[in-house]
Amino acid sequence: MGRVGVMGGTFDPIHYGHLVTAEEARVHFELSQVLFIPNRYPPHKDLDGVSAPEHRYHMTLLATATNPDFAVSRLEVDRPGPSYSIDTIRELRQAYQADALFYITGADAILQVVRGAWEGSAELLTLCQFIAASRPGFPIDVHDLRRFNVTGHQLSNIHVIEIPALAISSTDIRRRVTAGRPIRYLVPEPVETYIHKYGLYGRAGGAQG
Ligand code: NAP
Repeated sequence: MGRVGVMGGTFDPIHYGHLVTAEEARVHFELSQVLFIPNRYPPHKDLDGVSAPEHRYHMTLLATATNPDFAVSRLEVDRPGPSYSIDTIRELRQAYQADALFYITGADAILQVVRGAWEGSAELLTLCQFIAASRPGFPIDVHDLRRFNVTGHQLSNIHVIEIPALAISSTDIRRRVTAGRPIRYLVPEPVETYIHKYGLYGRAGGAQG
């Protein structure tokens, strides 16, 4: 049985915090590959200001191109409507019947699953394991999650990794671009070039230092 990482996110834009998270999860959990799945639209957010799915997909491709163990899927980008993770994981379960799936995303998002806030939360907790990436200063204790309506088996499917590089955030990067401040060393160079080329986040042209 293989072990496949599924890296779900809005990735607006993808940054080194995401890439370090995926690589750390790959090594720590002995994953054969990590499949990045940028969503079409996040189900839980005001869509105002979220970049077009194709832009986010292309930035994810550029950011992951040099890692042979990373791949990018169009599964959510091509599926009409908001991207419910349960639909994605059901599809992946069919495609990877012999493999264990590890859904990697931010710790906050995984706390929402445990609270039952996502469509099909209970089923999700049985279809895959979760790797919750936490930012420094925001630790989460899996045992604290016992107060929610989850079984011991479901809890044993949740793993937490602390990623210092997650001090980088997409929100901060968008604000920096809008304000004309540098994003070099926060995102891979081709992503920075793409952001400026297409004038994402409210500032067109002119590479920033
Ligand atoms: P979010 O709520 O904007 O982000 C929560 C936190 O997690 C942020 O700090 C974010 O940092 C970080 N984060 C997001 N993706 C990450 C990743 N793959 N690895 C490490 N940290 C990550 O997150 P989102 O991107 O919109 O949602 C995360 C995933 O959950 C997406 O795939 C989304 O479609 C899915 N989701 C599904 C449902 C549902 O099915 N009902 C509901 C909510 C979310 P950055 O802002 O720097 O990325």
